[in-house]
Amino acid sequence: MKKLIAANWKMYKSSAEAHNCVATLLGFLGKKAPENKEILVFPPFTAIKAVSEVFAGGSGFFAGGQNFYPEPEGAFTGEIALGMLREAGASWVLAGHSERRSIFGESNELVGRKTAYAYEAGLGVVLCIGETLAQRENGELEQVLTAQLEAGMAGLPVELDGARLAVAYEPVWAIGTGKVAGTGEIAEAHNLVRKILGKISPRHGAELRILYGGSVKADNAGGIMAVDNVDGVLVGGASLDAEKFSKIALA
Ligand code: PEP
Repeated sequence: MKKLIAANWKMYKSSAEAHNCVATLLGFLGKKAPENKEILVFPPFTAIKAVSEVFAGGSGFFAGGQNFYPEPEGAFTGEIALGMLREAGASWVLAGHSERRSIFGESNELVGRKTAYAYEAGLGVVLCIGETLAQRENGELEQVLTAQLEAGMAGLPVELDGARLAVAYEPVWAIGTGKVAGTGEIAEAHNLVRKILGKISPRHGAELRILYGGSVKADNAGGIMAVDNVDGVLVGGASLDAEKFSKIALA
């Protein structure tokens, strides 16, 4: 399967800035995503349309939503439905990003409901998991990742389209901190995630893409992507700059 190179723009960029950024990105990369790679960009809701319109002129580029609520519509003030994201041009969503878990209190159970809901609706889902520094130091890595994956995948069908579900391993202590996990730590965690996925989904655990996220930059992306069981990256800060993100996509 192709490597996934994903950009999480968080709460940055107006529509005009988003348009310029992805137009510049296509200027660096050409209209086709680099060979054997798919590029996903998760802009703020208000910029999804601008991004998807630029991507419509290329191939291998997809826009996605950073969040949504798992109901078709209703009295959910401040939330957004998948149909609305789709209308804007999104074909992927993030679920369980650590900022959603820690700042907005999303539980493993809610993340699982959202993952199943978006998958059943036909979108691609990047299910994010990862341990805090305290959990790692307490020796709870396997327990935390197992609980997040078991609950995160609980509502998915046994027969999966593996191209529409990816897991992003993002150690919380490496997100936005400039602290990158070492390639040894990444290899160990990704092997563990692969093992857990194999238990949860004996049919599809081996094929699901596992992305690494946490302070990925142009100068470390190549080394990280060469690690066993690393099938792509999820990039925050460095993805806001088209030139830096293009270098990551080409790494
Ligand atoms: C993220 O937001 O998922 C992320 C990995 O951020 P950063 O690359 O800035 O650490």
